[in-house]
Amino acid sequence: MLNVIIFGPPGSGKGTQSAQIVKKYNLIHLSTGDILRHEIMEKTPIGCVVKEYIDNGLLVPDEVVLKMLYHKASIYPKREGFIFDGFPRTIYQAEMLDKMLERHNRPIDVVVSVEVKEDELFKRMKGRAVDSGRSDDNEFTIKKRIDVYKEQTYPLIDFYRNQGKLVAVNGMDSVDVVFDHISQAVDFYLNKKNILP
Ligand code: ADP
Repeated sequence: MLNVIIFGPPGSGKGTQSAQIVKKYNLIHLSTGDILRHEIMEKTPIGCVVKEYIDNGLLVPDEVVLKMLYHKASIYPKREGFIFDGFPRTIYQAEMLDKMLERHNRPIDVVVSVEVKEDELFKRMKGRAVDSGRSDDNEFTIKKRIDVYKEQTYPLIDFYRNQGKLVAVNGMDSVDVVFDHISQAVDFYLNKKNILP
């Protein structure tokens, strides 16, 4: 059983990396961004509430995301491990996630922080905006999302560093090299867990 958080600014490539980690370690992928976009596409009551936040590059309110995530996570059998992608994004979300996982006695094992310089983030997101079809991939919203990340999500680095769970990976490398580094960190953790009681 393995629970991983992948964490990084918009455009850091965490979605791409998650897809590979899911395959290698047989995890369930919980991407709050994907789930929210699906709600919008299906025009559900949640979708109608969150669309405006997302289109403006703002975070969806914690209660909405938490309720949605608890519901999604509860669908899967208890033995499955998760990769949380795009969640948590605030200290409050992280505290609530810890509480939820404590109740099931299955804490977060590793938190991977994918680090990319700000000018590269802009470049990547402007580049992908043409094909992504995402309503939040425009110049104004990209800038807002990065600012929101710095203000509300970046503090999570210290939160997880203090828990001794943070692994920083250089996201400026190629997709394969980044994936290798993430795999090494996860394998290291798994080996340590097997050796130590
Ligand atoms: P990115 O990291 O590229 O911004 P995501 O798909 O992770 O892409 O998120 C897209 C948008 O969805 C965010 O800008 C935010 O509005 C909303 N969102 C996703 N996850 C969360 C979350 N955990 N808390 C609040 N809002 C979220």
